[in-house]
This record gives sequence, structure tokens and C-alpha cells, in this order.
Amino acid sequence: MSENTFAPIARQQESRTLTPLDSNAHVVVIGAGAFGGWTALNLLKQKFKVTLVDSWGAGNSRSSSGDETRVIRSTYGANEFYFNLNIRALQLWKDYEERWQRKLFENKGVLWLCHQRKTPVVDDSIPFAQQHGMMYEELTRNELAKRYPIVNAEDLSHAWFDPYGGLLYAREAMQTVQQAFVQEGGTFIQAQLTPGSINHARMQSCQLSNGQSLIADVFIFACGSWLGKMFPEILGSMITCTRQEVYYFGMPELNAAQYESFPVWIDADGHDWYYGIPGNHHRGFKVGVDKRGEAFDPTHGNRVLNTDVLHGARTFIAHRFPGLTNQPLVENRVCPYENSPDGNFLFDQHPEADNVIFLGGGSGHGFKHGPALGEWVTRCLTGLDQIPGDFLMR
Ligand SMILES: Cc1cc2nc3c(=O)[nH]c(=O)nc-3n(C[C@H](O)[C@H](O)[C@H](O)COP(=O)(O)OP(=O)(O)OC[C@H]3O[C@@H](n4cnc5c(N)ncnc54)[C@H](O)[C@@H]3O)c2cc1C
Repeated sequence: MSENTFAPIARQQESRTLTPLDSNAHVVVIGAGAFGGWTALNLLKQKFKVTLVDSWGAGNSRSSSGDETRVIRSTYGANEFYFNLNIRALQLWKDYEERWQRKLFENKGVLWLCHQRKTPVVDDSIPFAQQHGMMYEELTRNELAKRYPIVNAEDLSHAWFDPYGGLLYAREAMQTVQQAFVQEGGTFIQAQLTPGSINHARMQSCQLSNGQSLIADVFIFACGSWLGKMFPEILGSMITCTRQEVYYFGMPELNAAQYESFPVWIDADGHDWYYGIPGNHHRGFKVGVDKRGEAFDPTHGNRVLNTDVLHGARTFIAHRFPGLTNQPLVENRVCPYENSPDGNFLFDQHPEADNVIFLGGGSGHGFKHGPALGEWVTRCLTGLDQIPGDFLMR
């Protein structure tokens, strides 16, 4: 499993071209999270007949896309594909906000707290940023402490400020995508889908928990953390699920605004990778830990916090933001990561059925890309683009 979310490993495998969909194809997308929801919407825009199925609905509390907020950042180390995908996503988030008249993106910037002089996850992205005419701001330790007095910068080397990123309202975005999909003529069904059998290299139909049988030309399984268990022989060891905790700490009574207005931040310590999203609808100072948690069952697992993980987060927060020491926990969530072995997304065909597509492996960083990913997946399904080797099954 990849050690962290911030720079997936490039594998340089050969790319794959899919057989383009027929123009009158009926496509069933299973999963209305960031991967399935945006893909369904984009396929619909290309005039395909699209049915979107989800057991519990878009942005539900069991899904990975169901938390309040997610970070959007361009920095991806030396990985240009994700950098460019995010540049497209940034534009599309703004376009969709405008179209839907919904505030989904807060451009409050992303502050990287760097422990070492060389921090590849940021440094190696700088040339890509320059190609796009983007400038990140480097702050010395003293500048950081002066600009953001709530940070204890003593053990930091420096910081980088990415003024283009910020936060996304995750659950709200996915529910808006689902509504737009239906308004634009798509069919949404709330039911659990069981994959059908494969005959002559095709899956003809799938069974729904409401008794309905769905026949389609193509089935796209965008089932997040559930993918590994759904296709255990093929994806069982490829998509694994871990429990990840996020905490919302109260902010001090007298200077809450100072915390609320703080940028999204990532502590690049190379081990725990604590990160935070302050100021999301006044819910508190959100802190997450990217270090992989225990194996988790996304359907039956209880979402009760692990006191050891909370203790670690409290210790960290008291050190990095001393003004938050002893602040109460005002909310918490447990979310599933749908991990691929190297942190790359999964986008490939079932080895025995051409019309079955797997889409997922967001590995803790997939949400931000949603609109651009859906657009790009649609291009690959219509023969206009290829799937790079990094996304194929391994
Ligand atoms: C704590 C945490 C923090 C994260 N932080 C960030 C971040 O800051 N930035 C970022 O970009 N990404 C982040 N991510 C990752 C991102 O949220 C995920 O990569 C992304 O949401 C995955 O979307 P998905 O559509 O693959 O999965 P999901 O959102 O889980 O959607 C899968 C859907 O499939 C449905 N489903 C499953 N099985 C069936 C079935 N049999 N029949 C019908 N429906 C089914 C489920 O109900 C679910 O809605 C984070 C993830 C977590 C958990």
C-alpha cells in the first residue's frame, strides 16, 4: 500500500485504448460518489443513456465522498498527470459553481508546513506550476511565524503557500451532482446492485436489491471501498479499505476567527501527515491523519473514534497550534480510504468481460479530481483518450 496520499508512485506501464462506446449505448454506473457521479454526468452530456445506482445515495455517510470537506491542491510531487488533472478540475469546479449557483469551492489556499529543506511533494511540482504560469509562495520559518502567529514553527524548515487550492464541500457537491444528473435526464436508482454472471466475455445484466434486473451495454463499477469485496478474485488485494479518522476541534472563544480563516494546511513530516481544513461552515478546526488506519468494513464497521488515534492528533495539535491545547472535540468522523497498492487510481476493464469497467482507487486523494476525472474517463470511453499504464490493474 502506498505510504501516503500526496504523491502516487509512477509505474510507466503501457497505456490502453478502450473500444469506443456505441452512440446509443446504455451505460449503468454503480456508485454515486466522486468517481461514479461525475462520470455518469459526463456520459449523459455526451448523449448516452445513463443509469446511476447507489445503495445509500450520493455522498452518503458510509462513502468516501460523504464527509463535509475535502482538500483541493495541485502539488503532486513529480507526477504531472495528477497535477494537470487537478488544473482542469480547478477550472471545472469554478464553472460548475457558476452554472449551479452553489458555493462548492473555497479558494482559501493550501499551506505546506515543510520539515526538511527538500520537500519533494511540493518542490517537484514547481516546474509544472511554472508551465501553467502559477506561482507558489515560499515562506521562511520567520515569515511563517509572523504571518500566522497561531502556528508553532520552531521545528519547521519553511512553508509553501499554494494560493490556488482550498477546500471543497464534498457531500454537498456529490448531492448536487446527483440532482443535476437527474435534471438533465439521467435515471437514478437507490438500490444495491449485485454483479451478474459473465457469458461470452460480457456481463448481460445485474440484479438490484429492489427486485429489478438491469440490462445494459456497459457496467461501470465505481464502488469506492466496496470494490475489493465485490470482485474478490480480481480486486481483493488491489483495493483495500482502511479506517481514517477526522476530528473537529473547538476554537478558542476569543480569537476563533483567526483559526477559522487559516488556510488548508498539510504537515509534511513524512510519517503521520496530519492535515487540516479550518473554517468549513463553522464546524470547527478540522484535523485529519493520512497515515493508514486499521482494515475496515465500510458497510458494517462502526464509526466510533479510536482513542489512540485521537490522542495522537491531540498531541500533534497541541504542539503545532498551541492555542488549541485542551480545546474540546466538537465532532468527529470515520471515513474509508479505498487504497490501491501504489496510490494510483484504478481504471481498467474486467479481464474476462470487455463491457465491465472498474473505476476507483482514489487512495485518499481522489475527490478533488471528480469533475476532470469524469470528463477524462468519458473521453477514454469514447475513444478520444487512452488510459495510462499507472491506472491499469496490477
Ligand atoms: C478521511 C478522508 C479524507 C480524504 N481527503 C481527501 C482530500 O482532502 N482531497 C481529496 O481529493 N480526496 C480526499 N479523500 C479521498 C476521496 O474522498 C475519495 O478518493 C473519493 O471520495 C472516492 O470516491 P468514490 O466515488 O471512488 O467512492 P465513494 O465516495 O465511496 O462512492 C462509492 C459509492 O458506491 C456505492 N456502492 C458501493 N457498493 C454498491 C453496490 N453494490 N450497489 C450500489 N451502490 C454501491 C456506495 O454507497 C458509495 O456511495 C479523502 C478520503 C477520506 C476517507
